[in-house]
Amino acid sequence: MSENKKFPNGESVKASGKLEEMTIDEVRDFQAEVAVFPLGSTEPHGPHLAYGTDTVIASGGAGAAVREANSRGARVLELPCLPIGNNVNFKAYPLACRIRVETLEAVLCDMADFLREEAIRKLVFLNAHGGNVAALQAALRRIHDRHAGELFACGCSISAFRKRGSPEVFNDHSPHAGDYETSLVLHLAPGLVRRERSVPTAMVEPDLAGLGNGAIQWVKPWHEFMPASCGGRPDLATEEKGREYFEDCVRGFADFLVELSAAPWHPRFPYSAASQ
Ligand SMILES: [Zn+2]
Repeated sequence: MSENKKFPNGESVKASGKLEEMTIDEVRDFQAEVAVFPLGSTEPHGPHLAYGTDTVIASGGAGAAVREANSRGARVLELPCLPIGNNVNFKAYPLACRIRVETLEAVLCDMADFLREEAIRKLVFLNAHGGNVAALQAALRRIHDRHAGELFACGCSISAFRKRGSPEVFNDHSPHAGDYETSLVLHLAPGLVRRERSVPTAMVEPDLAGLGNGAIQWVKPWHEFMPASCGGRPDLATEEKGREYFEDCVRGFADFLVELSAAPWHPRFPYSAASQ
């Protein structure tokens, strides 16, 4: 790899690791240690956010953290973001793009098989859509079954890397199109936010009080939970909150990627090679 190859912004190709921006020679020279596969979704997010919100957050988080990790000597490859996920509970809205749970699980497993064939042994799924979690967890089990000792796969969302003990910055607990997602998109892609349409929207609780405590898992028909396809206080979202939160998470994710990239591979990974 020639160290003087540059992107227009002056960043070296070697430091990028974004597969979609690399040539075959650069890819051959890169010798990735870790692959990050961002998982998004294309679905309604109320009158103020775009269908691509989850994809913007997944690819934005992956891109920023991979760049930072590689600038610190890691060798992390950023794969293209998967923009379609599990949305069987979004059918009441128009054009909430969806593939079956088993299809997503199969895609994630196929990606692990493919990376194993490419001699990459460490894989991180960075997910930004709640509907993908079940298929992701099933895929991690299946990948373990198929590749334990040969490939390590793990999954997380960008918010997993928020520093412990950090103050709560968002004013609702909305899982969808509320303060959190609106603030992040105001930072990552402000042109996609319709500020004048960001209004407080109540979330609907089920009749059964026992389902309201968050401990029981079930699939919500989203149009009952959020008739307007959004909920919470997007009106309180700010670019500043989004930037601070995002940068904090990216720093934590980059730290993890640097550690993962530097850790030598052995069949007992991620436990000590010497432990019995
Ligand atoms: Zn979302």
